[in-house]
Amino acid sequence: MEINGYYLPAAAEGMAGAVADAAALFDLPAAGILSGADIAAQLPADAVFIRNTVIGSAGTTVISEVFFWREEGFLGCYTRRARAGGEEGADAAIQRLVRLNLLAILERVTGHNPGPWGILRGVRPIKIIHRLLDNGLSPREAAARLTANYAVAAEKAELLAAVALRQRPFLHTGLQARRLVSVYVGVPYCPSRCLYCSFPANVLPADHTKVADFLHALEADIAAAAALLARYGLTAETVYIGGGTPTSLGDGDFARLLAKVREAFVSGATREFTVEAGRPDCITDGKIAAMAAAGVTRVSVNPQTMQEKTLKLIGRNHTVCDIIVMFRKIRASGIPVINMDIIAGLPAETEQDMADTLAQIAALDPDNLTVHTLAIKRGSRLADSREEVALPDDRTTAGMLALAADAARSLGLEPYYLYRQKHMTGNLENIGYARPGAECIYNIQIIEERQTVIGVGPAAATKAVAADHRLDSSYNPKDVATYIGNIDHYIRRREELIAALFST
Ligand code: SF4
Repeated sequence: MEINGYYLPAAAEGMAGAVADAAALFDLPAAGILSGADIAAQLPADAVFIRNTVIGSAGTTVISEVFFWREEGFLGCYTRRARAGGEEGADAAIQRLVRLNLLAILERVTGHNPGPWGILRGVRPIKIIHRLLDNGLSPREAAARLTANYAVAAEKAELLAAVALRQRPFLHTGLQARRLVSVYVGVPYCPSRCLYCSFPANVLPADHTKVADFLHALEADIAAAAALLARYGLTAETVYIGGGTPTSLGDGDFARLLAKVREAFVSGATREFTVEAGRPDCITDGKIAAMAAAGVTRVSVNPQTMQEKTLKLIGRNHTVCDIIVMFRKIRASGIPVINMDIIAGLPAETEQDMADTLAQIAALDPDNLTVHTLAIKRGSRLADSREEVALPDDRTTAGMLALAADAARSLGLEPYYLYRQKHMTGNLENIGYARPGAECIYNIQIIEERQTVIGVGPAAATKAVAADHRLDSSYNPKDVATYIGNIDHYIRRREELIAALFST
């Protein structure tokens, strides 16, 4: 039935957040508070009233009731009771049980299936599996726990367990984790702005003095980060130049940046040096040669689609043929690993379009394939023009992800990292596939947050990870002018964060 909002009793504050989380899966906004005994007299016909009661003796039990008007004109109520097993704190258990109950009930009331991820809303679902594996559960037990406690579909829980197992050899412990870090360098420019982009990407300014000012600040940032690594005896296991599209810089600026980054961070112990080459509308033979000469080990080429009509729609100034030519040139340069990014759910695309994109990608035979689900993010042109754009529905997008999983399997690529975002079509996921041995270690570290990451450049995050996996972060500003004008302040904040990590 059609429901447009929910009401809570006056005394529900402690559980309002959990109710809001569950209701968000059904796009139900909070409508207000109903107080007093006569709910029926106050409840509008297109809303539900949600009441949760905690009873605790041996373990925590939550009873959830959802009241709604039936078509026949009398008040109906679904009730569900759930009990915690005792492996979490009482408050966390209550919040989880409220979500679990309401997911089941609202699914019945609305007839809407909110997708395969149950009540999990976080960006990093595999962290839960790693925690369970750390506590001695087998991968099968961990997957079963995810299904029982979070209502995750069995097939997704098994996928998470398989990905976690593939990641385990890359997660360090003890002294190694204290000494190995990843370094991220952000370049905030792109040749044009894509329809769905909410990243702090700026179109490369025509005025080179602005770019020079940015590069001057970035080089100071790089030098300070290198000094930080030296002070604490840290080694960069992975180095990642992302953005934006770093290759949108001119040939000379790009080659100089590569040299600076290499000199500052790359050593014999560095296992991976990635550059987001991103888009063929700004790659040149000179930039490919510069990457090969600098010892770049992984390049990401991100067509997002191999459909000409969609490239135009999303704001790309290049053709499918440009992507193929660029890929072949990078392959010929000898750089060992090439990743390709695609997006499921792009405007006006069908499953046939995705099948064709995958066939064209298979012909190129990349070492990594990253499959994103379209997310309609605030600040993107897509969010602003949502009504004018025809997007594939949730089912079609899920079908596209399934096609991509089959294609990856046929190419010998295994799923090795996975994360989720808000506002994704069909409440689905982003997933990275790799040829065994060609996994992007940086992607694993940044998502699982078990390694310190030193962030350099606008919008970069520094994440200081303690031995018990506790995390403190500092963020550089997204705005380039703020970054340039306050670079000393942000360098100091990063230094304080890392100093605090090594003072414990
Ligand atoms: S290439 Fe990436 S960062 Fe640049 S505009 Fe497109 S989506 Fe945004």
